[in-house]
Amino acid sequence: MPTYIVLLGPPGAGKGTQAEILAANFQLPHISSGDIFRENIKKDTELGKLAQTYMSKGELVPDDVTIAMIRERFSRPDCVRGAILDGFPRNPAQADDVEGMLKGFGGQVNLVPLITAPSDVLILRLAGRWTCRANGHIFHERFNPSKQSRVCDFDGSPLFQRDDDKADTVKHRIEVYQNQTAPLIDYYNKRGILVEINGSAPIEEVAAHLMSALNK
Ligand code: AMP
Repeated sequence: MPTYIVLLGPPGAGKGTQAEILAANFQLPHISSGDIFRENIKKDTELGKLAQTYMSKGELVPDDVTIAMIRERFSRPDCVRGAILDGFPRNPAQADDVEGMLKGFGGQVNLVPLITAPSDVLILRLAGRWTCRANGHIFHERFNPSKQSRVCDFDGSPLFQRDDDKADTVKHRIEVYQNQTAPLIDYYNKRGILVEINGSAPIEEVAAHLMSALNK
């Protein structure tokens, strides 16, 4: 049976960091919609140009565009055994689409860890976050520094600060999460697959909680 895990939680809760750990432990692809958009922005594709207009304001990219992009990603063979989804789905319409898409694979969303942290922690984390240019690896200048300043530990590529991690945009992204994404808590709770994880703890502790939830 394939295993599909959807990581839910506000920006800065640690979804990307934990998704990398889970993907490595379970040998599953880590699919981050934000990373795919950023990759397109870097390559200056039409999709990237369109996504950028929304991302720079902290708004969601329209569903038709996002869903088409994720469907294309899921058409690749590495997704048949399962995947760790990070940043997608982000509203009930996207969640409905995921259900339909996974049914086609003989799969379903198996578990939805909701990673939470108070707003002041989220803001502090995003303000100090450094992201790797090549593969989206994530560091934090205080809580998870790279060995060499502004260089990725894993692939040696330069680290950069995301435009949308600036204070004003972060506040708006948290509001967008509350208004558009938080309804998914109820959506997955009703299906009995939501499990809440305290994301304020150190990275290793959160990872251990996630692993034990998944192994159940
Ligand atoms: P993230 O890297 O998950 O924080 O996403 C960064 C930005 O990409 C978001 O603020 C949105 O503008 C856009 N984005 C990522 N995933 C989605 C999605 N599932 N639906 C719409 N927009 C998205």
